[in-house]
Amino acid sequence: MSSLLVDNIGELVTNTPGAGGGGPLGLRRHVALLVEDGLVAWIGPTRDAPAADRRIDAGGAAVLPGFVDSHAHLVFAGDRAVEFAARMAGEPYTGGGIRTTVGATRAASDDELRATVRRLRGEAMRQGTTTVEIKSGYGLTVADEARSLRIAAEFTEDTTFLGAHVVPAEYADRPDDYVGMVCGPMLAAAAPYARWIDVFCERGAFDVDHARAILACGQAVGLGVRLHANQLGPGPGVQLGVELGAASVDHCTHLTDADVDALASTAAEDGGTTTVATLLPGAEFSTRSPYPDARRLLDAGVTVALATDCNPGSSYTSSMPFCIALAVREMRMTPAEAVWAATAGGAAALRRADVGRLARGARADLMILDAPSHLHLAYRPGVPLIRQVLRNGVPQCRP
Ligand SMILES: [Zn+2]
Repeated sequence: MSSLLVDNIGELVTNTPGAGGGGPLGLRRHVALLVEDGLVAWIGPTRDAPAADRRIDAGGAAVLPGFVDSHAHLVFAGDRAVEFAARMAGEPYTGGGIRTTVGATRAASDDELRATVRRLRGEAMRQGTTTVEIKSGYGLTVADEARSLRIAAEFTEDTTFLGAHVVPAEYADRPDDYVGMVCGPMLAAAAPYARWIDVFCERGAFDVDHARAILACGQAVGLGVRLHANQLGPGPGVQLGVELGAASVDHCTHLTDADVDALASTAAEDGGTTTVATLLPGAEFSTRSPYPDARRLLDAGVTVALATDCNPGSSYTSSMPFCIALAVREMRMTPAEAVWAATAGGAAALRRADVGRLARGARADLMILDAPSHLHLAYRPGVPLIRQVLRNGVPQCRP
């Protein structure tokens, strides 16, 4: 059994209420954390720290659980920098650019796609992300969706089949046929590599009847449900997610009071049936759109997560610290709420109890900041504050 002691922690975010006070973050001060075989084995005062094979001196800095980025589209080829520039010059975002990426992705080799996922996952890791969900959705053929998920599964346990991202051009005038294909041969080819199924339920993508049919097919073969909904305008997606027991409904930018109430009604004590509202402020930033009203959701008791939505069109950032800064500055979340949403909230959105918190038995996925407090993540936007990242207790390489 190998052991590692992270010693001299000035502020530890445990996300374990009752662990020592400090609100939902369960802050503890002047502690050490022992890792054994990749798991947290002990947390206690520095002076009581047990001996270990190796030691990392945190130097009085803050230590947090690794970020859980529960929404990312990393399997793609090409970029859309020109489209971004046009948008910044005044063109509206419609989601139509997804088809540009579909063409480039279909033309790419497996190794090209794999290299992009590896690069982005490394980039995210250096910014503190230790768990990332990865979606398909730029293949949109049976073979291309299956290979996207096969490649995604090389990098994460949380793979999501998003064959219903948009209707591809070759099916533009017969969307019913495309939905039939998604539910039939595409799902059959994708399911062995997927934990989740997702649909982009939005005007211009999939309507609520198509979304319900596709998600039900996924559930029938054992996939968990998540949903892109209410991003570009109001719609029935959030209610559909709650109806189907989705782990998360993502975007949630345009909500009615009934949508908020429906989400709040799922916030159970044990979290096992909660539908999380995952907010993706990188998308609003990159499309120059109004941000979701996080304050309204939080005040209603909804469980909120933050994620990057990393994708080449509407949010090409892998940075959870950037999303935290946006959430605090633009969405009126407190720094503590934003940090919780980026760690424990993401874990809830993936229905995982082993990550997003630091307590005995949890995975030793954590980051040491170059700062004395979690507050600095929002207080010092754009600054590389992540000094070191451990995943399963193993220090990750710096570039
Ligand atoms: Zn997305």
